[in-house]
Amino acid sequence: MKAGDFIAISKCPSQGEDCECVFCSSCSSRVGMISGYGPDNSYMVYFDCGEALVTQQDFATGRARLLAGHHSLVESDYSVFTEANSSLPAGS
Ligand SMILES: [Zn+2]
Repeated sequence: MKAGDFIAISKCPSQGEDCECVFCSSCSSRVGMISGYGPDNSYMVYFDCGEALVTQQDFATGRARLLAGHHSLVESDYSVFTEANSSLPAGS
């Protein structure tokens, strides 16, 4: 993972109850972008509710997961685009 990658935070186990974590209390989308690195291979992540530290343990327990990077999405969209265009007549 690197800065600019997107990660998502799982729903809280106490969903349905009054969870007081920052994601629930602010109705966050729970999707954030890695902005930098923290101690012990953790990541600083910008969420819509602010910046938070996401640790390796969050990934190990499944609380946090990596989403497809923005760049890889763009590349796959681009290859679909070029494949579609290559089937067009080349113009004589
Ligand atoms: Zn919560």
